[in-house]
Amino acid sequence: MYAKCGSMEDAVRVFDKMPTRDVVSWNVIIAGHVKCGQAHEALDLFRQMQREGLQPDPVTFVGVLNACASVGALEEGRRAHEHIIQCGCESNKFVVNSLVDMYAKCGQLEDATRVFSKMPLHDVVSWNVIIAGHVTCGQGQKALELFQQMQQEGVQPDCITFVALLNACASVMVLGEGKRVHEQITQSPYESYLTVGNSLVDMYAKCGSMEDAVRVFEKMPLRDFVSWNVMISGYVKCGQEREALELFQQMQQEGLQPDSVTFVAVLNACALVGALKEGRRAHEHIIECGCELNKFVGSSLIDMYAKCGSLDDAVRVFNNMPLHDDVISWNALISGYVKGGQGQKALELFQQMRQEGLQPDSVTFVALLNACASVGALEEGRRVHEHIIQYGCESNKFVGSSLVDMYAKCGSMADAWRVFSEMPSWDVVSWTAMLQGFAMHGHGDEALEHFEYMCEEGIEVHSVAFICLLSACSHAGLVDEGLGYFDSMGSVYGICATAEHYTCIVDLLGRAGRLQEAEDMIHAMPYKLSAPVWKALLSACRIHGNVEMGERITEQVLKLDPDNASGYMLLSNIYAAAGNWDLSASVQRQRLERGVKKQPGRTWIEVNDEVHTFLVNDQDHPQMNEIHAALKTLTGQMHDAGFVPDTQFALHDVEEEKKVIHLCHHSEKLAIAFGLISTPPGTPLWIFKNLRVCGDCHTATKFIAKIVGRRIIVRDANRFHHFEDGVCSCVDYW
Ligand code: ZN
Ligand code: ZN
Repeated sequence: MYAKCGSMEDAVRVFDKMPTRDVVSWNVIIAGHVKCGQAHEALDLFRQMQREGLQPDPVTFVGVLNACASVGALEEGRRAHEHIIQCGCESNKFVVNSLVDMYAKCGQLEDATRVFSKMPLHDVVSWNVIIAGHVTCGQGQKALELFQQMQQEGVQPDCITFVALLNACASVMVLGEGKRVHEQITQSPYESYLTVGNSLVDMYAKCGSMEDAVRVFEKMPLRDFVSWNVMISGYVKCGQEREALELFQQMQQEGLQPDSVTFVAVLNACALVGALKEGRRAHEHIIECGCELNKFVGSSLIDMYAKCGSLDDAVRVFNNMPLHDDVISWNALISGYVKGGQGQKALELFQQMRQEGLQPDSVTFVALLNACASVGALEEGRRVHEHIIQYGCESNKFVGSSLVDMYAKCGSMADAWRVFSEMPSWDVVSWTAMLQGFAMHGHGDEALEHFEYMCEEGIEVHSVAFICLLSACSHAGLVDEGLGYFDSMGSVYGICATAEHYTCIVDLLGRAGRLQEAEDMIHAMPYKLSAPVWKALLSACRIHGNVEMGERITEQVLKLDPDNASGYMLLSNIYAAAGNWDLSASVQRQRLERGVKKQPGRTWIEVNDEVHTFLVNDQDHPQMNEIHAALKTLTGQMHDAGFVPDTQFALHDVEEEKKVIHLCHHSEKLAIAFGLISTPPGTPLWIFKNLRVCGDCHTATKFIAKIVGRRIIVRDANRFHHFEDGVCSCVDYW
């Protein structure tokens, strides 16, 4: 009585006081512990029983095997099996069913099948055990085959069989098979069972058919919170987040109490659609229900706030968590910082995480590598790489691809290549990361070669690989090759060209001066015209000084994207290049009148483990005096070497002299000067810029690289420029 009422303490007290105990007393106390989830205590008691010289009977063995199954104690289970044979209990069908169940739950399907096939007769329980065992071990297909056999032997399925079968169909996502099982259920008495209904809804949702799931859900005579959870999670998995949120409201209206599973699904839905308001409401609800301390709910809250762009709230939830002993919540916050553009904060949090003794995992490392890649923090990236080796995560393929990506984006193609070539296996992501690296660095030939290798290796290339390939061709001026690949995309690789591919091709033709062809290409596009594709053509007009086309195209760009400054900037540049300063200035005035702000130029450089950021006309840096002095000396040396400042890029309605001064203070020049005075002679400089590098800075950097005899590597918004000995790797083609 005490055991069945769940009070094992009382049960044990009575048991201990019993003057004599027979096998029934032991069976009751062992089975009681198993039912209350105290399997280890049950196994201890079994050993004690043997020491006291009592002979176990079939009921004892069923209890012991259930205990082994629930905690996965395989060795203990095997010993029990030997014992069963010694006692001659192996023909007892309850014992054998428990044996099959124990082996299956311990992941030993072979042993389970061997015991099962030795049984002289299979009843529905034996079939249920072996079928469910296969489902738990991820062998859904085999489970369905076993069901066929069961029917051939003429055994009628019960509701447990149906639940196992539906789980099997859900796990291998076979909708057709699931519908057949559903049909059989409608002919059985189990259709109205709650567990069967829930499993049906779950099966349809996991097989991606929310329509069928809704139909079953609405017909259910009785629904509990599991039914609602399955529906809500199903909508989230199928990408119908709005429906998930509506259903959540309906659930509350019907007076059902959501639990942590519901909240996790709802928060995921909010995160995916950026529904901050709904997310906040769910948060209030979570506090009311007392679920805020659940660690899965907490991590989902952090993730939701971070993805909805409210990092402050994410931090607050994180700080309010009672324990930070779970890597998931750290990962959620670290990824949040990275996505919010606060890479430095993410790295600090990682330090803190390690100090608190937590083990980072592959998700942590991928987020950190993304942080390093986005700000170009090569040294920081190398340190993360060391940690990855230390924690043994380097063979994880996501980490490997992110490492390749990080090194490529931080400018070190040699490291990217080393990591790539040492990867234990490659997939389309790692190949594409490498391809993108070649493209960014303007290594056109290597990119093409790499792409061909990739195809030879039988990697199924996808749309992204072609974007990398085409932009590689564009950056390297490989026009014919690029056009050839563009043509073969559909015919050879069966990939539909998207607007992004067209933008690459327009860029490719435009840079090569084939402006008319580029414009024809835009009109031939089977998509709604978008601003990026026109902008690609507009920058080509700037490079080639085509004022007439530039004016026409600007109109198109401004029609599609009136709030973006780049259309105005490009046209103003085109006029300036043609020497028409009045028109150039009037375009800028128009921009200001319409309240369109341009993105400020920002450049940063990593020196001695610290990222230093410079803005145009920056005066804030503590070493600004030294930087200005260095720039002054450089300007003199550059002048002697024949450098003429190109004032068309200044774009300010001021007299010539001021323009020259202003140009001197473009943020990349400040960063380069700072790099020169803070590092030993000969050290290469790695510079990162948020916008495309201007023509004047490009020429100036070529001169500077030659004068100071250093390699200067600049990553601008588009690609890498490797400046060395007076030339740039882009061959002035960017
Ligand atoms: Zn510049
Ligand atoms: Zn360049």
